[in-house]
Amino acid sequence: MKVLVINCGSSSLKYQLIDMSNEKSLAQGLVERIGIEGSILTQKVEGRDKYIIETPMKDHKDAIKLVLGALVDEKNGVIKDMSEISAVGHRVVHGGEKYAESVLITEKVMKELDECAKLAPLHNPPNIIGIEACQALMPNTPMVAVFDTAFHQTMPEEAYIYALPYELYEKHGIRKYGFHGTSHKYVSRVAAETMGKNIEDLKIVTCHLGNGASLCAVKNGKSVETSMGFTPLAGLVMGTRCGDIDPAIATYLETDLGMSAKEVNNLMNKQSGVFGISGVSSDFRDIENAAAEGSKRAQLALDVFHHRVKEFIGAYAAAMGGVDCVVFTAGLGENAKETREEICKGLEFLGFKIDTEKNNVRGKVAEISTDDSKVKVYVIPTNEELMIARDTMSLIK
Ligand code: ADP
Repeated sequence: MKVLVINCGSSSLKYQLIDMSNEKSLAQGLVERIGIEGSILTQKVEGRDKYIIETPMKDHKDAIKLVLGALVDEKNGVIKDMSEISAVGHRVVHGGEKYAESVLITEKVMKELDECAKLAPLHNPPNIIGIEACQALMPNTPMVAVFDTAFHQTMPEEAYIYALPYELYEKHGIRKYGFHGTSHKYVSRVAAETMGKNIEDLKIVTCHLGNGASLCAVKNGKSVETSMGFTPLAGLVMGTRCGDIDPAIATYLETDLGMSAKEVNNLMNKQSGVFGISGVSSDFRDIENAAAEGSKRAQLALDVFHHRVKEFIGAYAAAMGGVDCVVFTAGLGENAKETREEICKGLEFLGFKIDTEKNNVRGKVAEISTDDSKVKVYVIPTNEELMIARDTMSLIK
């Protein structure tokens, strides 16, 4: 059985076709600039040259038509016929309080997704457009929605309620939801397997450090705390997002600096984070290079980033009453040994010890703590697509 995984953004679309008999990725691709001049599809298949199609795509339906064409292409494709695709798994950012698990998509589910869109106006609408485009082109193929928020629905009330008037929660759903759930769930499971322990017996802190970044406290296999909130703007310092700041700054920017709500939102989402502090870039590699060349602000951006992650690890150890294992994942977590080392520095009191030689590793499952470290530290590459495909399989069976 083959499952197509789709992750639809406003002008881009990532896809992967996975053979579930061995969980191997057959093809993966990216469509960019949908509805904008210069639309392009790039498909990668192991052992082959990249397959690139540059052709106008006016909308997501055009894009998905092209994706299906690329997958069945006689020369560059990986399947003979579309009917080989048993199901489609869609990444959906926000499932609200409605969805604590993935769900088979029905008409009723589509209506509820529309309702959740209010909570994620930037993310859910393109996800929904992607589902509708697939449904139009593959009307008889079952589809499943896998939510970024679902894994965090196990958080206790004291973790997700904000200290605002309670009516805002009751009437408007204003609470902490958390994101990156598929990734936190996946890497916490791999960590337990790697340790040879039952996840039910473990306290794990998972650190998803990419452009967007979040931490999760996984106790007995369940998310009990996470650093993103009502939106993915909260928590850690990110590429261009500010993470936690004094909320009064937002009103100060409006009343004292005359900025509009839209401008404040843009500033906090797009102009802040390590980009805002360093003035160099949102890409950590550029910032590390600038810091190495003597840029004080680039170094400061890295210091602030490390400090914040460290604070959250400590907080989550406290929230769980201890920690057995810390996992680093995503672009930075999987690749940047200096970042991992800096974050763990000073946490020795919690029982951490990083082995600098073992830490010299990239992009594969590896233990990077010393043999006598009480807390095990791992690098575990995330695989959200596989997790989506697994959920999809189990729901269509
Ligand atoms: P997202 O999916 O949120 O866009 P990724 O998980 O792909 O992000 O992570 C992207 C980030 O990872 C970038 O800031 C990039 O600089 C960083 N990164 C990737 N490889 C390295 C590396 N070798 N050293 C430092 N940072 C890296």
